Amino acid sequence: MSHNRTIPFFVPDIGEPAIERVAHALRSGWLTAGPRTAEFEAEFRDYVGADNAVAVNSCTAALHLALVAYDVGPGDEVIVPTMTFAATAEVVVHTGAKPVLVDVNAADLNLDPLAVERAISPRTKAIIPVHYGGQPAPMDRIMELARRHGITVIEDAAHALPARYRGQMVGSIGDATCFSFYANKTITTGEGGMITTADPAIAARIRSLSLHGLSNDAWNRYSGGSTWDYAVVAAGYKYNLTDIAASLGLDQLARADDFARERQRVASLYDEIFAGSELITPLATSPDVEHAHHLYVVKLDVAALTHDRSWVMEALRSRGVATSVHYRPVHMHKYYRATLEHEPSDFPVAAALFDEIVSLPIYPIMTNEDVEYVASVLLETISGILRS
Ligand SMILES: *Cc1c(COP(=O)(O)O)cnc(C)c1O
Repeated sequence: MSHNRTIPFFVPDIGEPAIERVAHALRSGWLTAGPRTAEFEAEFRDYVGADNAVAVNSCTAALHLALVAYDVGPGDEVIVPTMTFAATAEVVVHTGAKPVLVDVNAADLNLDPLAVERAISPRTKAIIPVHYGGQPAPMDRIMELARRHGITVIEDAAHALPARYRGQMVGSIGDATCFSFYANKTITTGEGGMITTADPAIAARIRSLSLHGLSNDAWNRYSGGSTWDYAVVAAGYKYNLTDIAASLGLDQLARADDFARERQRVASLYDEIFAGSELITPLATSPDVEHAHHLYVVKLDVAALTHDRSWVMEALRSRGVATSVHYRPVHMHKYYRATLEHEPSDFPVAAALFDEIVSLPIYPIMTNEDVEYVASVLLETISGILRS
């Protein structure tokens, strides 16, 4: 293949109607959390089939607030898969609790319920399953373990909008579910997040904590025009979403099903092309799920190659194809390795897979020709470095 293309790792799909909607918010004169944020919360709640939704300015903030709202603090332990972004573990540290890392399944990189069961102690207060790449974690097993031991389940669904586990929408399964609208997530507000929960008292607490621990939100306060005064009922945070971001979120959410269909197209085409390769293995998809396909991750058979994964990524980059790695396991980062006193081999599945995984571009505006180009460049690169 001689022609070269440039395929970025991710490109958001922001149309003119979204830009018009944001402009309308800007012209309205109300910029912070207000009517558009309330509308975004209501639409989101209905979309995932949750009872309550609170918009915040990131998924990291959502996870932090969920832990605080469920009284997670010093002396508690929170189980977190090691194959995740740092955010999932750092929020536990910020509460004063201890992240207890667990290994993942090699087939799909979701957390291993047997490892969770072994990690449960009398101090375990919460589990944060991560729906890796957009594929729901085995929630039946996790919820059953949590109920048996009286543990709260807070889902990191940063990758999982929209996704279903055994027919049930992610966002309506665990005690609380946290979503991300970061710039490269399945829908985006630039920065943003959402927490859903069936528990109205938890939702009210999260809402208050997201805005300085005020008893009411600023919009209710000022729109009534009745009072300058407010009650602070907790030492809260400044985690609320803006109406500027929410207006973009409303447009993106309305397109979420279309985006998901396009990512499914891309994933299926990659699957089809790689089915013939012994050296490139896509992650397994469980029949129990509807997958959000936020990431498309393949495992390379590095033992059969003369060069390592990073060399392969550089070779792809030189032909215009951007790739990434999700993730360096948490326990192999300097800070967590030191503070939690881990060796890479403590979680052997994640440690071994870290050297084999590559995330390929996947987003709605990718054409089939783009997908075929990425796949053929990867196949050609691999066939050029076979061990004899
Ligand atoms: C992106 C991401 C987060 C953090 O989301 P933000 O909205 O950027 O705070 C948390 N967990 C995982 C698995 C993520 O990929």
